[in-house]
Amino acid sequence: MHKDRVTPHHTSPIRQDQTYILYWMQAAQRLHENYALEAAMRASVRHNKPLRVLFVLDPTFKEANHRHYSFMLEGLSSLRDKLRALNIEFYLDIGPFTDTVVKHLSRAVLFIFDKGYTRALRAVRLAVVEAAIAENLPTYEIETELIVPIEKASQKCEYAARTLRPKLLRQVETYLDEAVLTPPLHAPLAEPSYADMPVEAWLTHIEADTSIRKSPYFTGGEDIALARLETFIDELLCHYDKSNDPSLNLTSQLSPYLHFGQLSAVRVYQRVSAALDRCPVAVEGFLEQLLVRRELAFNFVYYCNGYDRFDTMTDRWAYETMHAHADDHRPILYTKDDYHRYDTHDPYFNAAMKEMVLTGYMHNYMRMYWGKKIIEWSPDMKTAYETILELNNAYFIDGRDPNSYAGVAWLFGRHDRAWTRRDIFGSLRYMNAAGLKRKFDIEAYVERMERLQPSKKS
Ligand SMILES: Cc1cc2nc3c(=O)[nH]c(=O)nc-3n(C[C@H](O)[C@H](O)[C@H](O)COP(=O)(O)OP(=O)(O)OC[C@H]3O[C@@H](n4cnc5c(N)ncnc54)[C@H](O)[C@@H]3O)c2cc1C
Repeated sequence: MHKDRVTPHHTSPIRQDQTYILYWMQAAQRLHENYALEAAMRASVRHNKPLRVLFVLDPTFKEANHRHYSFMLEGLSSLRDKLRALNIEFYLDIGPFTDTVVKHLSRAVLFIFDKGYTRALRAVRLAVVEAAIAENLPTYEIETELIVPIEKASQKCEYAARTLRPKLLRQVETYLDEAVLTPPLHAPLAEPSYADMPVEAWLTHIEADTSIRKSPYFTGGEDIALARLETFIDELLCHYDKSNDPSLNLTSQLSPYLHFGQLSAVRVYQRVSAALDRCPVAVEGFLEQLLVRRELAFNFVYYCNGYDRFDTMTDRWAYETMHAHADDHRPILYTKDDYHRYDTHDPYFNAAMKEMVLTGYMHNYMRMYWGKKIIEWSPDMKTAYETILELNNAYFIDGRDPNSYAGVAWLFGRHDRAWTRRDIFGSLRYMNAAGLKRKFDIEAYVERMERLQPSKKS
């Protein structure tokens, strides 16, 4: 692991008289390229103490529903088995994040946790660190989810991809580090926890909101993620330069796995870049999305205050143009109910919405088109923003991600530029059905979505 991934919060001597090395796992729900797990395993061997991997399910966590939980819990159940095979206790606890993690600190020899980026996840970590320091517990935060650690990439809210790109490209090779796992020598603790129950019981215990149910099209888990990555590399990667076309289905569909940390971006970068000689244009196009676009979104939520509120999420020029066009006539208005039922006059929007509702995923180009249409069909920009973000985070398995906030803010000009002025949109970029028809065989996309079934694969 590269040393830049580690932030020591409290470096007091270890508490040798206590029971376990505590690793609170939240962001990196995997074994591979999990630097926090690497550090925790190493500490367990060095201090000859059992390792407790703690995972906390917080039933009050904002916007989480049955779809998100089932995907995550599928991953956790296989992770539990893999950890146990390595002599590591997987302790699943249920309750509000901070209080529940803090409960486990008093018996810890040393405390390790992974880094979070959104406001809510950072606030929990801050509270937990305060409690750990108050207990004089040595505490280390380890960055697992980005290729270039966030504060090494940049120390400010970046304006656009072009301002962050050179900073990332300069450093990326330094941070393609492997995580080396050294299984603990000490026998694991076997204290009873929710981890002993099956996934269905976890779901019942957290009383997940079942209004949006598990996607039959995606199953969570590290092994599935790694297998999907290899299939993508073998079969689709070299066609990625044509992946902008939603009718072709050439994208990796790895975003749900990246979101839950079931897949490491470092691993994806390494495996994909190994194909550089085979098809350089496609590989470079993919790495641009994975490195530059994704890490720009993390920069956005980490440094740009108010990234998730209408009044603060975009740039001044964008507010000015939206304000200037606030009173423009909006001839077509739809409600959230119309969207939920994919019932508008626009077959392309309806197809995209159906993909979102039934599968929990949507092609990137259609995400842009879908959002731009909701802007066009809303009474005002604030309502549009709130509707888009709500639907995004409710239906997408990869929702509530830094990419969610950056993607939605992009619809309102963030990380974009001014375009030709027009009604409603002002200088915000506009998209219409004629563009879809001109560029793609969009009817083929619609036909594919028409074949989607609520409970079986197409
Ligand atoms: C309105 C809107 C909403 C969005 N909401 C989300 C969201 O909730 N969650 C989410 O993960 N992404 C979101 N995105 C970004 C992007 O659409 C998805 O990451 C991408 O479609 C995921 O599909 P994939 O894994 O098949 O992508 P691929 O094309 O295979 O790309 C590989 C990886 O690169 C990254 N990536 C690709 N495109 C982008 C992009 N435009 N911006 C940032 N990173 C990118 C992702 O990590 C992705 O998994 C949104 C974009 C827009 C315009």
